[in-house]
Amino acid sequence: MRLVVQKYGGTSVGTPERIRNVACRLVETQREGCQLVAVISAMAGVTDDLLKLAHEMSPQPAERELDILLATGEYAAAALTAMAVNALGGRAISLTGAQAGILTDRNHARARIANISPKQIHELLSDDYIVIVAGFQGPPEGETTTLGRGGSDLTAIALAGALNADVCQIFTDVDGVFTCDPRIVTDAQKLGEVAYDELLEMASAGSKVMQSRAVEFAKKFGIEFEVRSSFKTSIGTVAKEATPGMEDVVIRGISVDRHQAKLTIAGVRDEPGSAGRIFSNIAAAHIIVDMIVQNASIGGTTDISFTIHEDELENARKILMPVVSEVGAKRLNTASGMAKLSVVGIGMRSHSGVAARMFECLGRAGINIQLVSTSEIKIAVIIDEKDLEHAAQLIHAEFGLARLLPAAGAKDPPG
Ligand code: ADP
Ligand code: ASP
Ligand code: MG
Repeated sequence: MRLVVQKYGGTSVGTPERIRNVACRLVETQREGCQLVAVISAMAGVTDDLLKLAHEMSPQPAERELDILLATGEYAAAALTAMAVNALGGRAISLTGAQAGILTDRNHARARIANISPKQIHELLSDDYIVIVAGFQGPPEGETTTLGRGGSDLTAIALAGALNADVCQIFTDVDGVFTCDPRIVTDAQKLGEVAYDELLEMASAGSKVMQSRAVEFAKKFGIEFEVRSSFKTSIGTVAKEATPGMEDVVIRGISVDRHQAKLTIAGVRDEPGSAGRIFSNIAAAHIIVDMIVQNASIGGTTDISFTIHEDELENARKILMPVVSEVGAKRLNTASGMAKLSVVGIGMRSHSGVAARMFECLGRAGINIQLVSTSEIKIAVIIDEKDLEHAAQLIHAEFGLARLLPAAGAKDPPG
């Protein structure tokens, strides 16, 4: 019998009607002769609402308490889904992360899965249950941890690996992984397949269709999965190890990341230890740094620029003010309202000129590039956030990623 792991995201279980829709799909899948494990996210908006409530109680709630609070969103949605399946005459049972045998490290808010003992899941599957697992959480010895935002994706991928599932499907509110977020570029195309490396870069660069840590896990253990719509029956996008033909496509997708801030420390003494001093202070405050660019030194000094989320800007500025004089720098310049635009594709390994084409396209539109960073399969630029959507649409067209839409008024060809 085929063992299937399915994950349903927040929008897919966002209303009682949608939970019933998911329940119908689960019952049908089981009737097709599959053993079925379903990972369920909190109903849409619930995690954000719980976070808001927590911040009404305290400006900096303890991460341990936050994890206990946030995990309840997934408990509720999993139990409701089990009830909906049972009301349809199916046989379902919901499990918390702990009951599902998921064990994590003790890193609250961003725990890593250390081990999964799926004995109880196997027993329940043999008893013909549809096993519904609350996503996003796991315990180390009696504690509750969560796996970072979007972490139900990781629960599903890790369970598919531990159970040696035949199929892993991530059901969401779009038809699959697109060449760009279809909410930004309306003629974005659904991809038939995507290499783990590409999806990993896209997810890390802001495409939240999959959690980046989940893709990392899938790549590490070779767990193929499909991203598809929970509202339709059409097939989605398969994420898998790269095949030789995949490199023929130069750019697979474009990612955008909003709400970035840029900091530049100008005139830093060009000597060992300066960068270490700057970034160790930032790291001690748990501020996540994204791009880092250091200019070539002129006259014994250099400029160091980097980006962070704009919510952290005030905090970073406070931390850096004393450090600026310690490293002999002249000043600290900061700017919020920035965004990152990235083009991603394993085809870049064997095609040249991608950066030039991207920069020229932005230049023609009068969009100024403020920072650049590259990897083997990605080119990312920092631009003003106000230009982001226009830039994404232009680059998308420049690299020929658009879906071919029927021309307006086009008639069927004569038969
Ligand atoms: P879920 O709640 O199912 O986990 P998410 O909201 O986390 O769903 O992810 C789905 C959303 O990701 C889509 O609604 C879409 O706006 C966004 N998205 C961003 N980039 C892409 C992309 N390249 N392809 C598809 N969706 C994308
Ligand atoms: N509910 C969590 C979040 O909103 C986890 C998830 O949906 O995957 O981030
Ligand atoms: Mg998600």
